[in-house]
Amino acid sequence: MQLYTSVYRFSRLVPRQRLTLNQADPTIFGLIQEEIKRQRESINLIPSENHSSKAVLEALGSVMSTKYAEGYPGARYYGGTQVYDKVELLCQQRALNAFNLNSNEWGVNVQMLSGAPANFAIYTGLLAPKDRILSLDLPHGGHLSHGYQTETKKVSAVSSYFEVMPYRLNEETELIDYEQMEVLAKAFRPKLIVAGASAYARIIDFQAIRKICDSVKAYLLADISHTAGMMAAEQLPSPFPYADVVMTTTHKSMRGPRGSLIFYRVGQKEVDKNGKPINYDLKSKIDQAVFPGLQGGPHFHTITSIAVALEEAKTPEFKSYQMSVLLNSKKLADELLKRNFSLVSGGTDNHLVLVNLKPKSIDGARVESILQAVNISVNKNTVPKDKSALVPNGLRMGSVPMTSRGVNQDEFAQIADFIDRGVAIAQKVKGEAGPKVQDFKDWLAKNGDQHPDIQKLKKDVVSFSSQFPVPGLD
Ligand SMILES: *Cc1c(COP(=O)(O)O)cnc(C)c1O
Repeated sequence: MQLYTSVYRFSRLVPRQRLTLNQADPTIFGLIQEEIKRQRESINLIPSENHSSKAVLEALGSVMSTKYAEGYPGARYYGGTQVYDKVELLCQQRALNAFNLNSNEWGVNVQMLSGAPANFAIYTGLLAPKDRILSLDLPHGGHLSHGYQTETKKVSAVSSYFEVMPYRLNEETELIDYEQMEVLAKAFRPKLIVAGASAYARIIDFQAIRKICDSVKAYLLADISHTAGMMAAEQLPSPFPYADVVMTTTHKSMRGPRGSLIFYRVGQKEVDKNGKPINYDLKSKIDQAVFPGLQGGPHFHTITSIAVALEEAKTPEFKSYQMSVLLNSKKLADELLKRNFSLVSGGTDNHLVLVNLKPKSIDGARVESILQAVNISVNKNTVPKDKSALVPNGLRMGSVPMTSRGVNQDEFAQIADFIDRGVAIAQKVKGEAGPKVQDFKDWLAKNGDQHPDIQKLKKDVVSFSSQFPVPGLD
């Protein structure tokens, strides 16, 4: 009889299969170490990024990535999926639980690889080609995957396969213009309205948008990719009472791996004109759009890891994290206002602030590059009335990743100070560097390493940021 000792088992593998990454591929290992150092030594204010826990990363790097499981639990096209079925069902259950949803009213698809394709799956599942979508314009805070197009170009494929009409912010209040949305909906008669944004600092009135949807018989898709964590923690108003479909990414405020969740209404009885109940169960439309409509084998390492993140989302720590995210964002906004920054809509209700740099006679592109040179990550962003997306006037910042590292409100005041110093440097250098943004970047590449103000700020940022642990690493 053969003894299955570990020595015997390992002799079946070529030695290379047993090496660690460090041993097998020092080049890639070295680059990962470089990225770890960058993360430790930077202040990350990108509101769509976050840090995942060790447990989430462990599940993501597990053997759950090696198997095919096309189909859904209990109905797969591959054998050997007993364990995968359990994981997917658990992930679905936890997703509903994270948002306090009842499985009689909501179902969820956990297979879509990321947010943009998830939106495309929803459009293809609920609409026919060339059907109409009404969504927030990208330069006013919307997302590419809501169907962005310019006068001359259909930028997002969504705008080629569907007819997209943008709604915008009121340029005075810089809030979503619900009256304009209603006028547009009545004229355009969309089959689906998207409520959601990636650069909007205020609460979205899902109830108002539901009313508009009802008046034109449109689906309401709530895209809560940015704010899902705060909603799961009941710190921001939930779209679930009003939406037909809710999509979120899992890697932003939810703190999971890169992925997405599509929640859809199930078995909800509506009453038609004659009082006869009609059943509009969206399960098969969404599930079929995901697989076999758009995807092949689901990424089970991701699904497994999402399940871990969703369990974390029910902990008291998650709730207090989301409360801190909101407090820190408010503090950042207040401290920037104190330093004479102008904010789009005047402030924030959520995890992000959108600065309008125009009154400071500098643009988002130049400030973004100065801040990058001193280890602060932000996004340049368009603000209402902007003409150029490459040289916009806005800067988008948020509290999500730094709050995960334990940064508190007082420390966010220090961060506001670093930004103020960065902007002052950008203003000073602008004239010297030349007329174009590229001149500015070239100047920075050439002189940044010697410039005393830049080097002093960078040193302060590195020593500030190095105090805070990085989840998943420490
Ligand atoms: C991030 C985001 C998406 C897209 O997610 P990806 O994972 O980058 O594809 C979609 N919608 C909104 C509102 C987002 O913020």
